[in-house]
Amino acid sequence: MKACALTAPRRLDIIDWPDPAIREPQDVLLRIESVGVCGSDIHYYVEGRIGSQVVEYPYLVGHESAATVIETGPAVTRVKPGDRVAVEPAIHCGDCDQCRAGRPHTCRRLRFLGCPGQIDGCLCERIVMPEACCYPIGPATTFDRAALAEPLSIGIYAARLGQARPGLRAAILGAGPIGLCTLLASRAEGLDSFFVSEPIPERRALAERAGASCTADPYGEDLLAAVSADTPELLDLVFECSGKQEAFDDGVRLLKPGGLFVLIGIPTEDRIHFSMDELRRRELTLQNVRRQNACMRPALDLIEQDRVDIGLLQTHSFPFGRTREAFDLVADYGEGVMKAMIHVGPDA
Ligand SMILES: [Zn+2]
Ligand SMILES: [Zn+2]
Repeated sequence: MKACALTAPRRLDIIDWPDPAIREPQDVLLRIESVGVCGSDIHYYVEGRIGSQVVEYPYLVGHESAATVIETGPAVTRVKPGDRVAVEPAIHCGDCDQCRAGRPHTCRRLRFLGCPGQIDGCLCERIVMPEACCYPIGPATTFDRAALAEPLSIGIYAARLGQARPGLRAAILGAGPIGLCTLLASRAEGLDSFFVSEPIPERRALAERAGASCTADPYGEDLLAAVSADTPELLDLVFECSGKQEAFDDGVRLLKPGGLFVLIGIPTEDRIHFSMDELRRRELTLQNVRRQNACMRPALDLIEQDRVDIGLLQTHSFPFGRTREAFDLVADYGEGVMKAMIHVGPDA
């Protein structure tokens, strides 16, 4: 089959790749239709690594996908050939302490699509996944929208860890795809006061359409003055979705005593600094978010019931043969891009 592989830093080529095959009774052979380009894919594309996870070339990234079922193993009951599905990219063992504690997302033997050292990604024509990772979608749901369930699931999980609810005052720092998904998911939970900090004007405009009450450019405006003009006691909740040191500093400044700082962005650097004095005096809580836990079905429900405007997320789409252009566009923040989708299969 054909795959679009990372072959060197900032290089993607369509090459021949071994065909996947069903090996376990619960396996499902899928034809990939639509793949979203994620910020983490871009880290592997540009830097060749995220922290300790380093790419060995050639390698396939891609983990936000929707697909058509081609063939199923003998034990599969959840889907059948021809079904259209959203794909959960994480395969957990079901057996370790984390899985048994209801934390499959931090499974000791987790294998995640397009995560170096684990399994290949889905920027290819076909993959095999266990049936537990296949979520059937309705006929009215496009493959693009179904593929967006994966980033939305992270927003839902972040909103849950942030205990998003009506009456809170929140900020979102960084209105990229994950920031926007966190905003959409928190709004679905009833939270309706969002200050959004984002340097790119097109992204601020999208955040406003998604329901931001106020937006600002963190490099051109005084965020503390902007927030305290409206909310002098400062914020209950901040979602960090940019991974930038400046945003971590902003978040600490914008929280009221007892506030909750939810950390979702992936920093390029290995270390981020906090003022321990600030954290301690105002007794702030830091909450890390590791992808998502059991939020794929809730994400698809929000999308399929039109309870979030997921269409705001997708700004671009590219045929499979132009995947590299999509990656360059996202890497360079060109054309006001939010989410670029790659149409791999014939039905996307
Ligand atoms: Zn992603
Ligand atoms: Zn496990």
